Amino acid sequence: MNSFGGLLQTSNLIGGKWRDANDGTTIDVLNPASGVLLGTVPNCGEGETRLAIEAAAEAFADWSRSNMSFRVGLLHKLHDALLDNCEPLAQLLTAEQGKPLAEARGEIAIGAAYIRWFAEEVRRAKGEIVPAPTADRRLMVTRHPVGVVGAITPWNFPSSMLARKLGPALAAGCTVVAKPASATPYSGLAWGKLCQDVGFPEGVVNIVTGSAHAIGGAIMASPDVRKVTFTGSTEIGKVLIRQSADSVKKVSMELGGNAPFIVFDDADLDAAIEGAMISKYRNMGQTCVCTNRFYVQAGIHDKFVARLKDATEALKVGDGSEDGTQQGPMIDEAGVKKVEAMIADATAKGAHIVTGGKRHAKGGTFFEPTVLTGATSDMQFATEEIFGPLSAVFRFEVEDAAITAANATEFGLAAYAYTRDIGRVFRLNDQLEYGLIGINTGLVTTVEAPFGGLKESGMGKEGGSQGLDDYLETKYMCVAGLDG
Ligand code: ADP
Repeated sequence: MNSFGGLLQTSNLIGGKWRDANDGTTIDVLNPASGVLLGTVPNCGEGETRLAIEAAAEAFADWSRSNMSFRVGLLHKLHDALLDNCEPLAQLLTAEQGKPLAEARGEIAIGAAYIRWFAEEVRRAKGEIVPAPTADRRLMVTRHPVGVVGAITPWNFPSSMLARKLGPALAAGCTVVAKPASATPYSGLAWGKLCQDVGFPEGVVNIVTGSAHAIGGAIMASPDVRKVTFTGSTEIGKVLIRQSADSVKKVSMELGGNAPFIVFDDADLDAAIEGAMISKYRNMGQTCVCTNRFYVQAGIHDKFVARLKDATEALKVGDGSEDGTQQGPMIDEAGVKKVEAMIADATAKGAHIVTGGKRHAKGGTFFEPTVLTGATSDMQFATEEIFGPLSAVFRFEVEDAAITAANATEFGLAAYAYTRDIGRVFRLNDQLEYGLIGINTGLVTTVEAPFGGLKESGMGKEGGSQGLDDYLETKYMCVAGLDG
């Protein structure tokens, strides 16, 4: 078996020890490109999660009071270890998740960049001395780690989503119990191995795989877990928000999206196509910031569709580990069925398939990158996340109509627009109800800027200086009785 540079860990990291499930049961992890078994991971539940929380709570006492320079030093070592192991980590990621190797390498690199960013950013997490109303007082505002953090991550970015949570948590002085998605647990477990290798103390980082319901339930029920950070579906996010009420936990939620991509008549067509391809087909359309709805103005519509068709047909579909592959398999059969159902729904309501539209000849969960025109607001993908390689193109006439349609969803994560009209750019910034807006670009994520949604796409930010705030409590101390 390929050990991926010794980073394929088939046990869980709890209190500094690699352990199996109490009852010895395991979960199979398959390569979605081949269906071949990659290995197993422990099928842990409530008991093991409680142990992990205890270990994290115990470790918190020292870690939260450790020298900031010590934590920063470890984070820099972790950053370097990630880059030193970029190739085996990327291969492992592709093997369990399916994305093309080039994208997997990019994910490892941005994960490392998040670690370095938060190592730098925590050095600027300043408090305040607030002017006091009376001369005998001094008012101080100070910042402190929130405590044990529960981090639940999805299968589409199993490495970088963990980075965005581990980075700020560890920098701030929090300890972590992480639960990777069952389809892609190895990338998260590899983080555990690297954390251990570079010298993070026992119990600071714990990684538990297994039943989402049982592990999630134990994390949510524990009064010792003071914050939960989750990336996943809006449906599960809502469950976790409800469960957080009993112990009044802080929560950050990165939930679903339904991104509009608006192309105005004055757009640079080459740039719009380049952005469309990146924002639509990255990770086979399986990202929460992937374009869900293309709105294209009447004057440029036909030209845009023709170019999008050509570019979509040129995509090389295959096993992500093969050179030149641009589209891997989808994660599972359920994902494929959802896309098929959306295409059937749309064509029954009058949409026209320009290219693709069905399962790929490669079989398994490979799907043909698809473009469809004549999309209308009563079609399923107008309101639901596609999460697959399907471009749905709507036509519009005037700016106001595009903005209204773009906002007609309960989601508010990412939106994109192509235009060269500077006044319109600021109208879009004012009026689009989205947490991330890309103007003349299809790729906005960067460690320096806050990533996070509005409306039912979530709460809290990851990245940017804001990404650290969620892991810090603010205390105010009033020192009175001083000489005036
Ligand atoms: P997706 O699978 O589309 O990424 P999910 O919200 O189903 O979105 O899963 C995201 C993460 O949440 C995964 O790690 C999954 O195992 C976990 N999860 C699913 N259900 C629960 C639950 N009830 N409690 C806690 N975590 C859950």
